[in-house]
Amino acid sequence: MIPIIQNPTPESFTKWLNQEKTNLKALYHNYNTQKHNSADKVWAHLPSNTPHMADEGICYYSKKELKQELLQQQYNLCCYCGCHIQEDNADIEHLIPKSWDITQTFRYENLYASCIPKKNPRFADDGDTLETIIAKIKKEQNYTDDDMSANEITAKALSSLNNDIPPTQKLKKGDKVFIFIPDSNSRHCNAANSRHCNAARGDKEITIFPRATVTDYTKYDRGETKKEEPYNAKSCIEQFHFIQITKSVIIKTKTSDDQVTIDNLNLNHPELAYKRHKVWDNINKIWKQGISKLDKTEQIKKTQKLKENREKQTHREMIFVEIYYLKVKLDELKLNET
Ligand SMILES: [Zn+2]
Repeated sequence: MIPIIQNPTPESFTKWLNQEKTNLKALYHNYNTQKHNSADKVWAHLPSNTPHMADEGICYYSKKELKQELLQQQYNLCCYCGCHIQEDNADIEHLIPKSWDITQTFRYENLYASCIPKKNPRFADDGDTLETIIAKIKKEQNYTDDDMSANEITAKALSSLNNDIPPTQKLKKGDKVFIFIPDSNSRHCNAANSRHCNAARGDKEITIFPRATVTDYTKYDRGETKKEEPYNAKSCIEQFHFIQITKSVIIKTKTSDDQVTIDNLNLNHPELAYKRHKVWDNINKIWKQGISKLDKTEQIKKTQKLKENREKQTHREMIFVEIYYLKVKLDELKLNET
């Protein structure tokens, strides 16, 4: 998880929110009074893209602009797993789920960019539609209709990834479309286990937030069993331990109460654990070769310097693993010194 320092709400988003105040109030009211209404419907009030032809005197804002803002704010890293993301494989995540409190839907402080499950670009043949492309993929990969993974490739999922293309529109040869294809090695396991970050979380609880500071101590309605308990989220700074076991680095939390965060985000997903292992191995090599042979005082000095250096490299994937490694080394050295 990365400790994100948030910018103020973007000016054009604030303008749009002010313009839509009455509409949003009505949507929130409808959501709260008509139980069958979905929170996604409220979220859909913010358009995916701004129109090509803009009317004068109207404020436009879109999910596209919002996502760009969030990506920039968090150095193009997923707020949860720390993997590199960009516009086409990132989604806007609500830390406090919309369904817990609908008024959090458009609150900038509640919005983050997170990775979305692996999707592969496909290039259309002449006359293909999104529907025919799905059928082709299902055939290529021998998916049957009762295959859990196959059910994830739906026209609905597709059109949300290809906002401007209706599922039946004919495409030209070479048009790029994005298709979510579950990892081949996880095809036969439960689809839920093959996902991580917000795809695994849904509206489930997390107790640790990807924030530099956390100021929300509010009561939220979190369903049947946990009605209206105070929500005491912690900042991710210093909440995680990393442990290297064969070819993977797994995360543990300081207290067992927070394990729910790891489980609900599936942060020990094998792919993530392996990525962290590569990063860990790399910093371990640098330390062993460059620093371990020096005398103790020099070791402390150099390790400290390397750590400070890494702390500035906020844009690097899984940088928190390297910082953690160096912090542990530094603690060990200082302990041995006295
Ligand atoms: Zn992620």
